[in-house]
Amino acid sequence: MLITKAIKLRLYSSQEKQYQINQIREICLWLYNFLGKERIKAWKENKTIITYSQQQNILPQLKETYPDLKLVHSQTLQDVVRRLDYSWKKFYVEVRKEKVGLPRRKWLEKYESFSYTQNPAFQLKRSQLWLSKLGWMNIRKHREPIGEIKTCSLLVKNQKYYAVFSCEIEAQPKIEVSSIPKERQIGIDVGIGKDNFFALSNREKQTNPQFYRTAEKELGELQRKVSNKEKGSQRREKAKLELSKKHEKVSNQRKDFVFKAVKKLRDNYDLLAVEKLRTRKIMERNQEQNPWYSAKSLHDASLSFFLLALSHRVEETGGRLVKVNPAYTSQRCSNCQQLASRKLELSDRVFVCAWCQRQEDRDINAAKNILYQAQITELGTNFVNQGKIW
Ligand SMILES: [Zn+2]
Repeated sequence: MLITKAIKLRLYSSQEKQYQINQIREICLWLYNFLGKERIKAWKENKTIITYSQQQNILPQLKETYPDLKLVHSQTLQDVVRRLDYSWKKFYVEVRKEKVGLPRRKWLEKYESFSYTQNPAFQLKRSQLWLSKLGWMNIRKHREPIGEIKTCSLLVKNQKYYAVFSCEIEAQPKIEVSSIPKERQIGIDVGIGKDNFFALSNREKQTNPQFYRTAEKELGELQRKVSNKEKGSQRREKAKLELSKKHEKVSNQRKDFVFKAVKKLRDNYDLLAVEKLRTRKIMERNQEQNPWYSAKSLHDASLSFFLLALSHRVEETGGRLVKVNPAYTSQRCSNCQQLASRKLELSDRVFVCAWCQRQEDRDINAAKNILYQAQITELGTNFVNQGKIW
């Protein structure tokens, strides 16, 4: 099975090239909004649906009317149509079910990248990247792209330039579940409270990194700085850039932290079990109106990123990620499997079993139950009779 992996490398280019890159970006944005307007018009007037191929077919004609488009590679232009089509396809489907707004026009700030979608339009040689319409540029290759490079995108973020390669690699064959030894199986209870990141069935715990606290404070201050400045003023733009840079830094720290945690888990375990529903809840909670710099939202964003990265990594390396039914994972005793008569409150940190008197950290108890569930569904057994008392 093939999987896609993205790798992002810093790009160093002359001022002139930077100018050209941004010019291409602006032309792409113009095309995006131009074709978007056509779709809006067709929809508003008589609910007509315009397709990808219709818009792609008028590109040669548009190039004649708007010669600036010739400064952009044809693959890149087609990719613009594809991006627009992607947001509209969603709209066409959703509008039938509920009232949704028309896809909006985009602004340069949010239109950060453009893409080359087939190999002859880009070439990678040692630490140099060649792009059609732009020529050779230096890149910092701190990592080597692996597998087959399918597409190359240029990304401009916070006044820095990047090349993002999407590579296709062959996934390792799946490990046979029955051959996974007990010590390479683990249950993971992801943290709902904002202090715990996750707890494992082997009693290990991962707390949230310290930088969350600092980030919450600093991002909050920068956010206030932006709101205090007059709209449209230079000072406000400056403050916005500062905030955006800080946010990028925090996001990099978070990625770093998550990748390390994922790597460690995958190195040590082949069967990893998580709860099905809670995963979804976190993703949903992530959409809620938390200020995007609060420790809680940082925590939630990290958790959903963690779960995503974990499933990618496991898939890539042939391991098993089992998602179990979350019913009773926190209410059951992981020692004797009896259910507690009442649900635990979020403030109850310790699970005390009324049947076997076992006391266990609440999250670790849940992690053990999650693993137990996975063993039952995947293997039909939990290996050992975990010290049942009857
Ligand atoms: Zn018990």
